Formats: sequence, C-alpha cells, structure tokens
Amino acid sequence: MIEIKDLHKSYKMGSSALHVLKGINFSVKEGELVAIMGSSGSGKSTLLNILGMLDGMDSGEYILDGVLIKNLNETKAAQYRNKFLGFVFQSFNLINYKTALENVALPLYYQRVSRKERQDKALKYLTKVGLKDWANHLPGELSGGQKQRVAIARALAAEPKVLLADEPTGALDSKTSHEVMDLIQQINDEGKTILVVTHEEDIANMCKRIVHLKDGVIVEDKKINQIRASQYV
Ligand code: ADP
Ligand code: MG
Repeated sequence: MIEIKDLHKSYKMGSSALHVLKGINFSVKEGELVAIMGSSGSGKSTLLNILGMLDGMDSGEYILDGVLIKNLNETKAAQYRNKFLGFVFQSFNLINYKTALENVALPLYYQRVSRKERQDKALKYLTKVGLKDWANHLPGELSGGQKQRVAIARALAAEPKVLLADEPTGALDSKTSHEVMDLIQQINDEGKTILVVTHEEDIANMCKRIVHLKDGVIVEDKKINQIRASQYV
C-alpha cells in the first residue's frame, strides 16, 4: 500500500538546515495497523505529513497504492489525497459551528458527492463510531473522546485506502485513549490500513507493528502481539 525508499527531509532554518529525516525505508501492506513511535521532535509528524501528501520530501521515492507520488501539482495532489487518505489529528480539527453530521459530511461535499449520499454516508460512519444519537450536536456539546470519534468518522466518510492518525489520543485521558484505540483496532479488523503516530508506548502496543524513529532513521521495526484496547476499556 505504502512504499518509501531513502526518504530525506530538511527544514531550512535561515542559513542552515535541520535534517529531520535521514534516509527512511519502509513499506506498509494493506490491512496493517502500524505505530510510528519516537520521542518528541524525532520527526514523526514530518514523516506522516509526507505520507499524507501534506508536505513534500527533499529526495527519495514514495509509492502509494501503486502510484509514484512525485512532482504533482496541487490539484493532482489534492485528488490523490482525497482518494487515498484520511486524517485524524490530536486536536480533532472539527468546525465548531457545524454539527457532528455536517462535519462528517463536509469532505464529501468537496468531492461533489450528492446531498442525499453525503447524509447517508455521514450517518453510516457516525453510527459506526457509536455517535448516531449525537448527529445534530455541535462539537462544543461533545466530550474529547466523542470529538475524536467524529473526526474518525469524518476521516472514514470518503472511504480512504489509508487512515493516518497523528497522536490521536494525545489530548485524551487514559480511559478515553483506550476507548479511541479500541475503535481504531475495530476499524483495522475490518480491513483498513492504519498508521498511528504516538510517543506513548501503551498506545503503540495496541498496534500490530511498531516502527521506532530516532535521530532521523528507523532504529527498530517489529511485529508484536498487539494488546487489545478493550482489555482496558
Ligand atoms: P515529532 O512529531 O516527532 O514531535 P516533528 O516532525 O514535528 O517531530 O518535528 C521534527 C523536528 O523538525 C523538530 O525539531 C521540529 O522542531 C522541526 N520542525 C517541524 N516542522 C518544522 C517546520 N515547519 N519548520 C522548521 N522546523 C520544523
Ligand atoms: Mg508530532
């Protein structure tokens, strides 16, 4: 699904440059649930943003679902992003004056999906994350865990091939974190390929595979017997 070869990324800092990713090689198969672990500042978000086509790379090769991602103009990049990728962020990034249902339906609007189908899909995915009864509530009326569920439903609504989550539990307490990870595991069980960036070991342990990032390279890449979040919930 994802193949990265010798990926490099630097940030220009005035006259110098900060070399953040120094030759990343890895691939992800369809249906995997992968944690990208590393301490703060190790380049996890940088890597996820490149995989998510939100940022470019300096050198290397990126193949996403058989497509070589290279020198795309913004229109083409947006097309692939919409088709292949769903995003979940630590800070939820919901629109506060839109209801849960409207938030979930919004990406479909930009994809010119008909009104009826937008409603149906949004309700389907809100139901999947357990928030059918909250469809007409505003984000301000929801708990942190519920907001993240809405964000997950929104990411799924366009039925992407890959779900990219950057510290999805970073703003949540421990119990709520486990509930959200339980949902992520469920969605993975249904076949979705998911990458979860986290600096928390107990969150990483709920993924089938842990890729450890340090000093700009992958220092460890291991398959594990994942812990079921439901053990905690
Ligand atoms: P992580 O997500 O693992 O905490 P990041 O990928 O956000 O790490 O950042 C890696 C390094 O790159 C950090 O030192 C950070 O300060 C720096 N960095 C991130 N984004 C930018 C940017 N847009 N411009 C300059 N430096 C950045
Ligand atoms: Mg980060």
